[in-house]
Amino acid sequence: MSSPYPHSPYPAYPYQQPGAPYPLVAGPGCEVCGALPAAPVTVRGHQGMVVLMRFLRRRGTLCRPCALAVFRQTQRDTLIRGWWGPLSVVITPVTLLVNLGALARIRKLPAPVTAAWRPPLDPGRPLLRRPAVLLPLAVLAALVIAVPVLLAAGGSDEPSRVRFQPRKNTEPLSVGACAHNDREWPHQDLRNVPCDSPDAQYLVTEQHNGYCADGDYYAYLQYSANGATPLCLHPVRKEPTPPADAVRD
Ligand SMILES: [Zn+2]
Repeated sequence: MSSPYPHSPYPAYPYQQPGAPYPLVAGPGCEVCGALPAAPVTVRGHQGMVVLMRFLRRRGTLCRPCALAVFRQTQRDTLIRGWWGPLSVVITPVTLLVNLGALARIRKLPAPVTAAWRPPLDPGRPLLRRPAVLLPLAVLAALVIAVPVLLAAGGSDEPSRVRFQPRKNTEPLSVGACAHNDREWPHQDLRNVPCDSPDAQYLVTEQHNGYCADGDYYAYLQYSANGATPLCLHPVRKEPTPPADAVRD
């Protein structure tokens, strides 16, 4: 704004404190209530509408309580109506954060010192004490926490977890004996077990003419005595284990 006296050596607002955080408006005061001091305030809002979206901006010369009321109302509306769209999910938190800069400036405004022509707007309760605001914030916080957890869980999915687990059993298998796999196929962690043991899953045999029989599995090379020829694992049909009493009798 220019000085009312074009050639005056004095600044337009002689009452302005040097270094004041906000240029205090000496003129008409708050647009809503008329109180002084007032300052230009801009608060942004966002509304997502699935495909469409709306950018809102509330701007005016406001006193502290009126500015705080506009800020809280706009933040509340954005928190509740902002998220509903793929881009809006990103725009809404940015809008909310940008408004914190406006809030910092509003907080530096002193309380009104002059009489107003009408009561100022009611700022209401702080946003963090309103259930309508806390719910979306809680959902947002849950998402912020849940996404990395889910990603971490997805990263430790069964195959990769098994792949990076060191094998417990590296001893060669005995031909004619039985073996048990401590992992799920196709991963192998094979160990020798007696064939009469309930753990026996495969009969260990050698290849015939370079092949294992149909239905057999091939053991990794490390499980053969020479380390070069894979052994065959023939699935052992498990008979149902009789009750312990019957065994004793
Ligand atoms: Zn006001």
